Amino acid sequence: MAGASEDVHPQKAFGWAARDSSGVLSPFNFSRRATGEQDVTFKVLYVGICHSDLHYIKNEWGSSDFISANYPAVPGHEIVGVVTEVGMKVQKFKVGYKVGVGCMVGSCRSCDNCGKNLENYCPKMLLTYGSTYYDGTNTYGGYSDIMVVDEHFAVHIPENMALDATAPLLCAGITVYSPLRYYGLDKPGLHVGVVGLGGLGHMAVKFAKALGTKVTVISTSANKKDEAVKRLGADFFLVSRDPEQMQAATGTLDGIIDTVSAPHPLLPLISLLKTEGKLITVGAPDKPLELPVFPLIMGRKMVGGSGIGGMMETQEMIDFAAKHDIKADIEVIPMDYVNTAMERLHKADVSYRFVIDIGNTLKAT
Ligand code: NAP
Ligand code: ZN
Ligand code: ZN
Repeated sequence: MAGASEDVHPQKAFGWAARDSSGVLSPFNFSRRATGEQDVTFKVLYVGICHSDLHYIKNEWGSSDFISANYPAVPGHEIVGVVTEVGMKVQKFKVGYKVGVGCMVGSCRSCDNCGKNLENYCPKMLLTYGSTYYDGTNTYGGYSDIMVVDEHFAVHIPENMALDATAPLLCAGITVYSPLRYYGLDKPGLHVGVVGLGGLGHMAVKFAKALGTKVTVISTSANKKDEAVKRLGADFFLVSRDPEQMQAATGTLDGIIDTVSAPHPLLPLISLLKTEGKLITVGAPDKPLELPVFPLIMGRKMVGGSGIGGMMETQEMIDFAAKHDIKADIEVIPMDYVNTAMERLHKADVSYRFVIDIGNTLKAT
């Protein structure tokens, strides 16, 4: 049954899917399950394009044995919309509520991690796309007209938040908010570095500033300096390929959130850390990074990782964003622009997140 696309389920759905590792997306008819007792069904209005969507549809992580693409693949895990139907036992949502879904749609709900609201680290976590759901069918993401999701894996979007600019919070937002909190990089007076000014990176600048830290952006793109400082509120900007600038900032940072999507050298970043500084990797390059250990040893520095966030923390992040008026800087695009958008994302040519206007531009064929 896995991979079946058309009539397995009663709710007709329509989206765009990649059929192979060319990653080219095209229209795709499929189906979604009936609204179960704990489920909400919603009309998708906007979906952000995460670099993980691009890694996935091109099967770039396939060789790492971690996540292999499962075709046809309907990507999209920064999904927002409006609830159209709720199951009998649903408590958090009513028809008409604004709703968001991020990277996961299931977990065991009984392991230690689930018990600590860390469903994102559950060994049985189910991804929004590319996983096999409990009924044996593939999960399909938000480049589609409707979603059906267990209410536990959906968050409330407060009425005053713009849906288009909020969509990227569901993955990019929580992915940077969670490590800032967990690794203690959330205290006023600390100095945080953000490496890679893309979808995740620009959210990291906004959250880190709202938490009261000083922020340095470390980027390969010198032309992003003005925006980083003037629009996003970063305090300093370093061009990572300029050894003099990097040298001058040696030992200045308490922690770094590294969002880079491609292999890159870690030594220059570790050198930016103070003694006991923390380098936190959230970017997911398709090849292993080289880790020089001497500079870690010599300064009791640490390297850590972080993956999205649990459902409770995701709601906390949304509510924090609502309070501090944090939203993504977006370029809204029509559905049929998606393949061009993917090419531009590959070249880091977006300020700073593409969001697909599903509600107005996804037309069933
Ligand atoms: P993005 O918008 O493409 O941003 C990545 C940024 O990395 C680029 O804008 C660029 O910034 C920098 N970069 C790209 N290639 C580089 C290279 N060769 N060397 C140095 N810097 C380079 O991507 P995103 O959506 O933010 O995602 C970033 C990464 O995080 C992806 O690998 C994605 O899969 C991963 N991710 C992880 C999680 C998680 O839970 N851990 C969640 C979501 C995404 P500059 O122009 O400023 O250099
Ligand atoms: Zn993502
Ligand atoms: Zn679990």
